[in-house]
Amino acid sequence: MLPKALEEAYSVLDTGEPISRELAESLAVLPGENTLDLLSLAHKVKNKYSEDMHSCSIISAKSGLCSENCKFCAQSAHHDSNADIYDLMEPETIVEQAAICFENGMERFGIVTSGAGFKVINDDFKSILQAIDTLKERYPDKKICAAVGTISDECIDELLARDIDNYGFNLQVAPAKFEELVATTHTSDDKISMIKKLTAKGASVCSGGVLGIGETMADRIELAYTFQELEVNVIPLNVLMPMEGTPLEHQKPIPVIEVAKTFALFRLINPTKVIKFAAGRETMMNDYQGLLMLSGANGLLMGGYLTARGRDIPLDQTFTDQLAAFSKK
Ligand code: SF4
Repeated sequence: MLPKALEEAYSVLDTGEPISRELAESLAVLPGENTLDLLSLAHKVKNKYSEDMHSCSIISAKSGLCSENCKFCAQSAHHDSNADIYDLMEPETIVEQAAICFENGMERFGIVTSGAGFKVINDDFKSILQAIDTLKERYPDKKICAAVGTISDECIDELLARDIDNYGFNLQVAPAKFEELVATTHTSDDKISMIKKLTAKGASVCSGGVLGIGETMADRIELAYTFQELEVNVIPLNVLMPMEGTPLEHQKPIPVIEVAKTFALFRLINPTKVIKFAAGRETMMNDYQGLLMLSGANGLLMGGYLTARGRDIPLDQTFTDQLAAFSKK
C-alpha cells in the first residue's frame, strides 16, 4: 500500500496541477523504500504534461576573471582555481562550435559568458549579437539561447529582436540562502528583478540551481516554488562538481537519493516545465544518471559544461534514444 502522501500526489496525474507545499514537504521525508514510487510518479507526470526531451549544448564563450564571488564557481576572480581564462571568442569561433553541435544533431545551442553582464551595448555585446545573427542566418531551424549575465533593457531588447529561444539566468539556490551559500557581490533580489524584467518583456527564461552546496531539502522545495512563481520555463539542475581552489573544493558529495527526490519534487511542483539535468550528470552521478533521467527530468545538457568536459554528444544521443523507450505509450 502506498503512503497517504503519495496517494494524494497521484492527483497531479489527473489534473496537471502542482502539488501543495505541505504535500511536497511530506513527500520529501518518505522513507527510502518509497522513493522509487515517488520517482515513478514524477516520470509519469513528465510523460503526460511536458515535452519529451529538451537537449542543448553550450559554449563558454568568455571564461574566468568574473567579478562575482559565487562560492562554487571556478570562474570567479575571487578564487584561486585552475579554470581557463580567455576573453570573448570571435563570433566566427562561436559559430564554428555551434556548427559542430548542430552537425551532431543538437537542436539548441547556448552562448554563455562569465562576468557580471552588460550595462551597455559595447563591442563584446555586439560580437555576441553578430554570432547570433550569423547562426540565425545559417541555421534558421535551430534554436539559439544566451546567458550573458545581468543585462540592461537595451541589451535584452537586442536579444529578443533576434528571437532567442531562452535567456539563461540561474538563481542557484533558495533566495533566503543566496548570501550564505552562493555570493555576497550580488543578491537574489537582483536576480529575481532581472528574471521579472525578462519575463515582462516576453523572454522565455531558463533558470536553475546547484544541488549539494549546503542547502537543505526545504531550501530545494523553496527554490522549486520560486521558479513556479516566476514562471520560469526551463529549470536546469546542476549537481555540484567541487572545483579546486573554490571555497567548495572539499564539499561532501550530495547523496544520489537526495538528487532523485529533488528531481521528482521539482517535477511535481512544476509539472509542465522543462527540468533539465545539467552539470554533474556524468561525473558526480555517473552510475545513477539513467535513474535520475527517469525521475521527472525531461532535458539534459550535452557535450560539456562551463569549466568541465562532459561526454561526447553521440554517446548522449544513444542514451536519450534508450530513455525514450520508457516514455512510449
Ligand atoms: S557563476 Fe557566473 S556570476 Fe558567479 S562567479 Fe561564476 S561566472 Fe561569475
